[in-house]
Amino acid sequence: MKSDARVVVIGGGVVGASVLYHLTKAGWKDALLIERGELTCGSTWHAAGGMHTLNGDPNVARLQQYTINLYKELEKISGQSCGLHMPGGIMLAGTRERFDWLKMAKARGRYLGMELELISADEAARVFPIIDKRHFVGALLDPIEGHVDPYGVTHAYAKAAQIGGAQVVRHTRVTDLKARGDGSWDVITEAGNVHAEHVVNAGGLWAREVGRMVGLELPILAMEHQYLITEDLPALKGQKELLTCIDFEGEIYTRQERGGVLLGTYERAGVPWSPRQTPWEFTQSLLPEDLDRIAPSLEVGFQHFPALGEVGIRKVVNGPFTFAPDGNPLVGPVRGLRNFWVACGVMAGFSQGGGVGLALSQWMVEGDPGADVWGMDVARYGDWATLAYTNAKVRENYSRRFRIRFPNEELTAARPLRTTPVYERLQAAHAVFGDYCGLEHPLWFAPSAAEATEDITFHRSNAHRHVAAECQAVRAAVGLLEISNYGKFEVTGPGTEEWLSYVMANRVPKVGRIALTPMLNERGKLIGDFTLCRLSAQRVFLICTYAAESYYRRWFERHAPPPGVTVRPCAMEYAGLSVAGPRSRALLQSLVREDLSSAAFPFLSFRPLDVGMIPALVGRITFTGDLGYEIWVTTEYQRALYDLLAGAGSEQGLRLFGGRALNTMRIEKSFGTWAREYRPIYGPYEAGLGRFVDLNKGEFVGRAAALEERDSGGALRLVTFTVDASDADATGDEPIWHDGKVVGWVTSGAYGHSVRQSLALGYIPAALASETSGFEIEIIGERRKALRQSAALFDPDGGRMRA
Ligand SMILES: Cc1cc2nc3c(=O)[nH]c(=O)nc-3n(C[C@H](O)[C@H](O)[C@H](O)COP(=O)(O)OP(=O)(O)OC[C@H]3O[C@@H](n4cnc5c(N)ncnc54)[C@H](O)[C@@H]3O)c2cc1C
Repeated sequence: MKSDARVVVIGGGVVGASVLYHLTKAGWKDALLIERGELTCGSTWHAAGGMHTLNGDPNVARLQQYTINLYKELEKISGQSCGLHMPGGIMLAGTRERFDWLKMAKARGRYLGMELELISADEAARVFPIIDKRHFVGALLDPIEGHVDPYGVTHAYAKAAQIGGAQVVRHTRVTDLKARGDGSWDVITEAGNVHAEHVVNAGGLWAREVGRMVGLELPILAMEHQYLITEDLPALKGQKELLTCIDFEGEIYTRQERGGVLLGTYERAGVPWSPRQTPWEFTQSLLPEDLDRIAPSLEVGFQHFPALGEVGIRKVVNGPFTFAPDGNPLVGPVRGLRNFWVACGVMAGFSQGGGVGLALSQWMVEGDPGADVWGMDVARYGDWATLAYTNAKVRENYSRRFRIRFPNEELTAARPLRTTPVYERLQAAHAVFGDYCGLEHPLWFAPSAAEATEDITFHRSNAHRHVAAECQAVRAAVGLLEISNYGKFEVTGPGTEEWLSYVMANRVPKVGRIALTPMLNERGKLIGDFTLCRLSAQRVFLICTYAAESYYRRWFERHAPPPGVTVRPCAMEYAGLSVAGPRSRALLQSLVREDLSSAAFPFLSFRPLDVGMIPALVGRITFTGDLGYEIWVTTEYQRALYDLLAGAGSEQGLRLFGGRALNTMRIEKSFGTWAREYRPIYGPYEAGLGRFVDLNKGEFVGRAAALEERDSGGALRLVTFTVDASDADATGDEPIWHDGKVVGWVTSGAYGHSVRQSLALGYIPAALASETSGFEIEIIGERRKALRQSAALFDPDGGRMRA
């Protein structure tokens, strides 16, 4: 084994092998993969090898498409067969709701270029003859599905990487990692040390243990997973290969395995494996079979696939593989650890391994993953994702693998975990809570405790009329919203202005003022949207998206401030309440000494003010687009602030409102939000944020690319639509049609209660941005007429928020 390498990849499963191949392809040929056993000896060797293109996150779906299309290239380069079988796949719906879900999946697949086809139960039985069609209402066909040989794929990656210059060392365990002062690593192994500039943790089942070598607790957990292979089915003899299949109601997947059928299931009562520590001795091993545990699924399976009940079981496999709490991979550089990268938690290595390798290698070599990988970025989890939290969420996710996640559905595991001081008060007011990074926040308020649950549905739910009343209160009088779940940073010290001006695209505001600003990467794409609140020459309070806190901190490490400037995340030190609506000024004025008139405290002012006895930071801004204020206090004051506002507000007609009402009101104003309208695939001019980019202030990250985008106009445009919807609104990811062709996608949608219309925000080609009509938005399989609006539906000239 050599003693120096540019990069050491730890782990020779399908993921590590893919990373190695993609690194050599991207030009890093001095790459070394170290594997403790044989290649594939972790989860990979006993996988069923199935692959699918569909994923809840369209950006992850794109990487899955890439992976599946890669295998032929890989076979050609390596000369190693991947055992590729592409019979196509069928997804069976046993209920109307599931069929609706398939319609939505087909619609989403349209703008990814997928050729999906909805068919009836009769047709399903014709193309997939082993089912009893009485259990199904219809199905979706996907031509790009199949299965591969896990051994073949992993060795093909490794061989192709070796042809590209990489080295693979087997039977050598990495036992420790030591960081050097220059950011490089000493990789300590059983066979000696390697000095490496970069290290990739692709440790699969042991990724957690490899993480611990550098003080990192990765939120991943292995679950036991079983599949069985039947004896040969006479009906399959001489026939072309069966489609791969997912039977959602049975929570079963199948594919043909020689003359029999492989049937796997994600059972409800899933069992974690080695929840604290993965044993190093577990090499190319399996776990004892436990058919009793999957018996309920098998019973359904034998009803739905009667032919399987007529033959014996040839083999049962029970093996562990790892998941992150949301089931998507953990990929990318790790904050606080220079040149340390992860590619783990990959639960579908044969659908996702190629895309993970591609994204990570581009990130390492080019400094940018080259695609929108937010859905699998390791930075989407913060310190709150502890071992026990991960355990609860992974078990929940595993048991729901084939269940529908409704757009208004809140999952229940690991809750309540984080609560703010006003939690009990909001609960007493019949709040229905949502979970955001483990933190409870109110979604809407029911009139009684008995009504404080929401029906989960693709259509408008029982919350609809209560959300309408909340919007009405804000637009007509005043509403009170808990906003503690925003992200916050404090930047202090000499040089604060210069540094912020360099990492943000807009000008830093004057003392006492607020500025909205995008944050761009070097490619000029949106990687954040911030509210900068200037408290003094050397102190700026930043408000942003809490879910992206680790992501921002990693970025701030990369563009580190000069000595003397401190960037301090403080999201949970400050709790917040917002009052919004035409009477919000009168309400707040009754509690503060200072003059809040528009002349004295205009729109976008920010100042420390005492609210009653409570020292607060007050900004004149709200995301509702109405007159309003955001009030920040250190958490010990939040309850007193709430009581004070609620008490004084009763005279003004104050009503509590939640995240649902806020969402519809911001869409009425065409305000975008991070991870929906603002993502690293869009530029600021495309997203309508050009007025917040100051190209004249001097150099800043992404300036050259932003300038180019301004001059070219960009390829896309974020636009607002009214939609001819009846009882179901767009929620995001629906295709936008124009003149019979899919031209774009929805990023957010909701019913606008104040404007009494169904609304959607979405991206379309810039060339179509001046068209008004001819658009349709596909909601649950139906194309609904949509009219592009040239301005926000509510208060388009912004008079109300400036009043
Ligand atoms: C029963 C079953 C069925 C499955 N079916 C499918 C399927 O149909 N389709 C699909 O896409 N996925 C399937 N999977 C999941 C799939 O197996 C995983 O997604 C994939 O194997 C993950 O690969 P990996 O490289 O991340 O991890 P692993 O395969 O666990 O590889 C990690 C490697 O790192 C090595 N390693 C760890 N620590 C060290 C160290 N310190 N030093 C040196 N080497 C180290 C290990 O020895 C191991 O070889 C299935 C899994 C199971 C259990």
